[in-house]
Amino acid sequence: MELIINGETKEVPPNITVEKLLEREEVEMPQYVSVQLNDSFVERELFTDTELKPGDRVDFLYYMGGGSEEELPPEEVERYSRQLILKEVGLKGQLKLRQSSVLIVGAGGLGSPAAFYLAAAGVGKIGLIDYDKVELHNLQRQILYTTQDVGRFKVEAALEKLKELNSDVEIVTYRDKFSADNALDILKDYQFVIDATDGFDSKFLINDACYFAGKPFIHAGILRFEGQTITVIPGVTTCYRCIFPAPPPPGAVPSCAQAGILGILGGIIGTIEAAEAIKYFLGEGDLLLNRLLYFNAKEMHYHAVNTSRSPSCPLCGENPSITELDEENVVCHSAEGETGESS
Ligand SMILES: [Zn+2]
Repeated sequence: MELIINGETKEVPPNITVEKLLEREEVEMPQYVSVQLNDSFVERELFTDTELKPGDRVDFLYYMGGGSEEELPPEEVERYSRQLILKEVGLKGQLKLRQSSVLIVGAGGLGSPAAFYLAAAGVGKIGLIDYDKVELHNLQRQILYTTQDVGRFKVEAALEKLKELNSDVEIVTYRDKFSADNALDILKDYQFVIDATDGFDSKFLINDACYFAGKPFIHAGILRFEGQTITVIPGVTTCYRCIFPAPPPPGAVPSCAQAGILGILGGIIGTIEAAEAIKYFLGEGDLLLNRLLYFNAKEMHYHAVNTSRSPSCPLCGENPSITELDEENVVCHSAEGETGESS
């Protein structure tokens, strides 16, 4: 009998099962192949029992590798259609995003929009770490949360919202503080890291941990009407300590709680962070490497400051004084009024 296999008409023995067909077609690693039969998926457990009929259309869908449009299920083709038509994304790029993983440290003003857009874009795995509960004054900028969420743990409420947006994405939550004790263990499961924190101790910890773990990350900071951000490939491009060798003394720099923050700054800078992560996964465009982007919403002005690696950087310089991940190196006693992980 004849079947249409991946768009090609082929002669096969009558009543062949899906399992036998996979064997006959010498499909590599059949345990990782999804099979579509006339527009509907065949459950893997049914491969042995599903017999094919003459004229059936069978498509083998592989998780990896480029190829035909048919490798994405129809609902994903529709969901991502506006980015699939970009030549920088396409099917190959969409599959890359699905294989990608990002850790967002802090589920607040920066982490909310970053997580929303990465989930919307179909990034395969998003980790969120935050130990705070939602407070009423967070809602002015932390758009993952609604009034009903006040009092709930941020990661719990965030998980719900992101799953509602896109249930295909794996969301992993950590109700914990990102610390020298857990950082390297958590980082090993992710390809890219987004700094969405408020405190300087967390920012320096992310920089150091990503250096020792060899993970690219994007740093960001926001205050009042301003924001700044830079992407770091550890050991290759300017790191946060190349620019700022050590945390500022306590009280030297005001926190958002003291100085205030225009909520939308989290949206602007957080979405830039998400954009950098997506570009990194796609391997497209120019990342903010060796360029610290500065943005001022009040003057509506932005510019990038060119930076370079510092030979005297205590972390990635020629004679580093920081040779292992240690909380002591990032200590900056939080200014009064600063309570949580996320800005
Ligand atoms: Zn450095």
